[in-house]
Amino acid sequence: MQSPKRKIASSQWILAAAIGTVLVLVLSFGLDQWRHYRVEMAQAERATRGAAVILAEHTALTFDAVGDAVRAVRQLRLDALATGEPPAASHELLKALDDGSPVFRALAWIDKDGNRLASSLHADPPPINIAGLDHFATLRDREPDRETLYVAAPKRSKLLDQWIWMLPASLPVTGPDGAFAGIAGGIIDPGYLSRVYASIDLGSSAVVTLFRRDGMILAREPFDSDLLGETLAGRPFITDIVVQAPVGTFHDVGPDDGAERVIGYAVSPGDGFIVSVALRHDEVLAQFYAGLWEGMARLALIVLVLAVGTWFLVRQVGRREALALELQDSEVRFRDFAAASADWFWETDEEHRLKWISDTLGMKSGLSQQARVGRTIWEIVDPDSVSQAAAEDHRRALLEHLPFQGFCYARRTAQGRRWMMASGMPMFDRQGRFRGYRGSSSDITEQRRAETRLHEAIEAFPGDFMLFDPQGRLVFHNRHAERNMQAIGQPPQRGDTMEAILRRHVAAGALPDAARDPEGWIAWRLRQHRAPASRILVRFNRGVAEVIERRTEDGGAMVLRFDVTEQEAAREALQAAREAADAANRAKSDFLASMSHELRTPLNAIIGFGQLLQMNKPGTLTPSQLEHCDIIVRSGGHLLNLVDDVLDLSGIEAGGLALSLGPADVGALLAVAVATIAPAADDAGIAIDPVPALDVGEVLADRQRLLQILINLLSNAIKYNRPGGSVRLFAAMTDRGSVRIEVTDTGIGIQPADVDRLFVPFQRLGAEFSKIPGTGIGLALCKRLVEMMDGRIGVESRPDSGSTFWVELPLAGVQDRPAAVAVGRRGGSRTAAGHFSLLYVEDNPINRGLVGHILETLPQVTVHNADHGADGLDLARTLQPDIIVLDLNLPDMNGFEVLRQLQADRATAALPVIALTASAMPDDVRRGLRAGFSDYLTKPLDVGGFLAAIDAALAKRPGPQAAK
Ligand code: ADP
Repeated sequence: MQSPKRKIASSQWILAAAIGTVLVLVLSFGLDQWRHYRVEMAQAERATRGAAVILAEHTALTFDAVGDAVRAVRQLRLDALATGEPPAASHELLKALDDGSPVFRALAWIDKDGNRLASSLHADPPPINIAGLDHFATLRDREPDRETLYVAAPKRSKLLDQWIWMLPASLPVTGPDGAFAGIAGGIIDPGYLSRVYASIDLGSSAVVTLFRRDGMILAREPFDSDLLGETLAGRPFITDIVVQAPVGTFHDVGPDDGAERVIGYAVSPGDGFIVSVALRHDEVLAQFYAGLWEGMARLALIVLVLAVGTWFLVRQVGRREALALELQDSEVRFRDFAAASADWFWETDEEHRLKWISDTLGMKSGLSQQARVGRTIWEIVDPDSVSQAAAEDHRRALLEHLPFQGFCYARRTAQGRRWMMASGMPMFDRQGRFRGYRGSSSDITEQRRAETRLHEAIEAFPGDFMLFDPQGRLVFHNRHAERNMQAIGQPPQRGDTMEAILRRHVAAGALPDAARDPEGWIAWRLRQHRAPASRILVRFNRGVAEVIERRTEDGGAMVLRFDVTEQEAAREALQAAREAADAANRAKSDFLASMSHELRTPLNAIIGFGQLLQMNKPGTLTPSQLEHCDIIVRSGGHLLNLVDDVLDLSGIEAGGLALSLGPADVGALLAVAVATIAPAADDAGIAIDPVPALDVGEVLADRQRLLQILINLLSNAIKYNRPGGSVRLFAAMTDRGSVRIEVTDTGIGIQPADVDRLFVPFQRLGAEFSKIPGTGIGLALCKRLVEMMDGRIGVESRPDSGSTFWVELPLAGVQDRPAAVAVGRRGGSRTAAGHFSLLYVEDNPINRGLVGHILETLPQVTVHNADHGADGLDLARTLQPDIIVLDLNLPDMNGFEVLRQLQADRATAALPVIALTASAMPDDVRRGLRAGFSDYLTKPLDVGGFLAAIDAALAKRPGPQAAK
């Protein structure tokens, strides 16, 4: 294949040749014309030069004759001088000389003073003196040459009463004494010379000029009076040229018209005059120019014809080239298509014998080209691979010369049986005669194998498979589907619609769901069928089938149906079991909750009366009765704790426990917990290491519940310690944005195998067989609470050497957490909501310390203390606290009295007052509440209850809750 570049160059070559031809033509034409020009100009030069030579000779002859005549006139004068004859007689002599000469106008004698003595024109000439004229003076003074004829400048003079141009030509006369005796001369008629010059026909622009040797113009043809006597100054003056050659030509520009001229000149023999003959270039070259224009017109015509011809040729060639390129491109394109396609191409003759196969065949099918050329399709086909009907169809198509498509057959090759698919178009010549087929074939063996594998897979599928075409007709189904539908009496047929199949099922009663409203059910089922994808359960005969349907890419649908009767039964059984378990669990929680409630009421009475008995006057009870009383109160307390814990745990499990989240100061809470637990530690002889100043900031937690957790851990650390053991507290911020609190004891430790059961309710890990009191609920409760607060709890322990229980809680105020979140039904805590001030009137410093510690856990509280009722009243008036906590047994007055006085004073009447007392009898409580205490709390102080009472009282206080 030639490169397109070279092809395009051929039209460029044509263009270049055409341009070259035009250049040669123009050049040769130019040269030719230049030669013509030169010839014309040389001819003109020769002509002017020749004319100048002839005219110069003629002029010289004329002036020779004039010289002879003037010499004769002088001789006459000399004769007269010698004879003394009067001048009057001279007229006749002069007249005789003048007559018959066409040259002269007159002849005359002039004396030495310039007076005219005689004239050929007048017998008695009027006196004229020419002493002032230049030629007289010139000749008088011209010594010693007295023989050279002097031709003076042309003059205009009056002669016989007529103004005419004349050319004086004179000789001096020398008297006998040898002195100047005047001049003898003639007046030449310049018109004579003009006529002579005009007699040579040189053309209309010819100018003949006669110059004196010094350059003065003596005569001119055509006559021009302005130029006569002039010397043409400022021009390449003729006299300068003449110095170089006596005969010659040159070119000059006309002084008056600016036209170029060729000028021929010649010096007259005797060197006296110069004659020039000038011809205008335009006249000289008139013929040349005429020829030039004609030639140029002819040339232009030739160039035009050449240009048009070239353009046409280039266009034609260009088109051919483009066509050839296009053809080449399309050939390459089709060759590429053929090479890239999975098909190969072939041609058969009229008898269906392969006569050409594309060279891609071998590459694609591993079949040899040669092996097939010359054979018919029937010699190639494996007869088993084509059904009789298909073979018949194909044979008919070939016979009738019809196009055919997708004819599939197999042939045996070295690699085994291979499947082919062929399509062809009949070819006809111009006369419409059949010439054979042209077509393409491809190897579809892999496709066939994939189809077979797919069929096998579908057959192996343990359910029904049905495929519908975009028109909704069944095109394929597996044997499973066939068997299934056989069971209802009618197997599926190709071309069946989904609706027809459904209706057959309904009619056979195979679809119990459709029994009630068959049409409605079929409509619903068809909607599922038409959806892009669906998955439904359908009751089928006595079983359940799962039906999965998908739209195929071509708009058809694929339906899968398999029996899930057993799975459904299992799932339903499982569901029922789960529901039963859930119900039982709920019942257990409900039972525990209601039992706990029921137990609390009598327990309160038992503990309350027990405490009442303990507080009875000394001596009323015997020591052993007091001891029994003590046991009743402690056992009651233990039982109450258990009931409370169970209530909490069941509350959490039933999802009913609410937390009040807010910032909680870990250091302060630890101090409260330690203070609360201190008496128990003392009793058990366990030392609690002084809490170091822990400044670990605030965690986001429910303070009350966190305190409960800490007390629980501390209480365990004491309970499961050894005599003389110790408990250590630790808290620190972690790099995970949380605070870790650790309670470490030196106790019995926990077996690694038991660790997993630690946080399971009612698991005491053997402690139930010891004397250590407990319920096994504490840690389970702690774990639930910590997790509800987004924290973690865990333990590290070594048997016999001690345990470290740790709790990790998120830091309050960490950016991505809410600063305070209220969880559950109870709502936000008022104590967390803002500043408030509290007045605590109590004489017992231990109690003051405990309350102080509890209040330190609140963020913004100001606590004032008074140890007497009177002081309390004063402070209440002056400080106007938000809340007053009042002990009822004060040294100076009864708490009821203090309340009365507070209520009596307008300044303090509205302040909420909480009673905090050891008088725990229900009657006392009722009485206190009636008296107007906003809450009545009993000792030992329940921290949670105390904080809740403060919250409630703050809610009731008058005016804004702003800081005091
Ligand atoms: P309780 O203390 O009421 O038995 P808990 O839930 O608080 O219940 O604790 C469960 C069990 O974990 C205890 O019975 C005890 O066996 C074990 N345990 C708890 N704390 C410790 C500890 N600090 N050292 C050793 N064992 C402990």
